[in-house]
Amino acid sequence: MTRKPTASKTTVAKSTAKRKPARREVWAESTAVKERISEEIAARFSKSRRTKVRSLVMVSGGVESVCLLANLLKWTKGPIHAHFIVTINIENRHEVEIMATQAAVTYCRETIRDFTFTTSTYEMMLGLGGGLDLTLHMFQAARINTATGGITDAVWTGHYGSTWNQLAEGSAVFAAAHVNKRFKPHWIMPFRGLQKIDIYRSMPMDLAKQTWSCRRPQVKAGKYIPCGTCHSCKSMSKVEAALDKAKAPGA
Ligand SMILES: [Zn+2]
Repeated sequence: MTRKPTASKTTVAKSTAKRKPARREVWAESTAVKERISEEIAARFSKSRRTKVRSLVMVSGGVESVCLLANLLKWTKGPIHAHFIVTINIENRHEVEIMATQAAVTYCRETIRDFTFTTSTYEMMLGLGGGLDLTLHMFQAARINTATGGITDAVWTGHYGSTWNQLAEGSAVFAAAHVNKRFKPHWIMPFRGLQKIDIYRSMPMDLAKQTWSCRRPQVKAGKYIPCGTCHSCKSMSKVEAALDKAKAPGA
């Protein structure tokens, strides 16, 4: 828990993946996310006959974004760039999110396939952080597309319960950042209409267990533990209850 991110610094992590997966791969029990990704690509790229969509996926260490990254790596063929914004604010969740994201990146590289990965840092110790994470992600996604030469076909995010106003704000910021650019990538949210349990079951269980969802982690005996009261903890407790029920004798 001693690692401190450097403010406003973007780093590029070098791939350490081997050519062949080092771990035995046990894939997920549900194909819900695989099917949704396939539908989204068909809807947007079938006319252009693009078989290798160049994807940017925004990750945070949580179930949704890690599931999205894993499924894109598994079921699509194009190059993938993952980006993690270290978000430092009053919620104090950045250190545990860094650990969860690094674990997910390592797992995916070792068991699925290689991809490029970068991070950036946003720090604002004022109020509740100054706005929506979604808006920040779309702002940064646009800048990453510019920084990488405008080669992104699709920006993928794992949001699934966002309100119309939240989506409108993210979309407006993303569009504004592409004024005077030749091309704006598609923004794809494949989880709309899915339940969190569908998402959780659409990734390898080993990987799901390494994710972190709590927005306001607590520290006890030198370890991070979920607060149990934030909206992410409440939705995860519903997932765990559904999993327990499915495992119960006679279920
Ligand atoms: Zn929590």
